[in-house]
Amino acid sequence: MDRDMYEYTGRGTGDLSILVGDSFKPIVWQADYDMDFSSDCLFCHNEDLKGYQVVDEQGMSGKIAVCPSCLKVNARY
Ligand SMILES: [Zn+2]
Repeated sequence: MDRDMYEYTGRGTGDLSILVGDSFKPIVWQADYDMDFSSDCLFCHNEDLKGYQVVDEQGMSGKIAVCPSCLKVNARY
């Protein structure tokens, strides 16, 4: 597990309403692919996370790491 990534959780994007553990809603959140992470998912055994630049329902922007297997938000960065 990549500890460094999780240290960024909740930092620098405090106005984003999306939380770790939320289900990914790419249409609602206007998600644009940003980068790959080679980290284990917190919720299943998938080992590749996808980073997305998103804009939430309140219009706040930020970046999140999502598991493409279980579609849970794993981190914010
Ligand atoms: Zn997963």
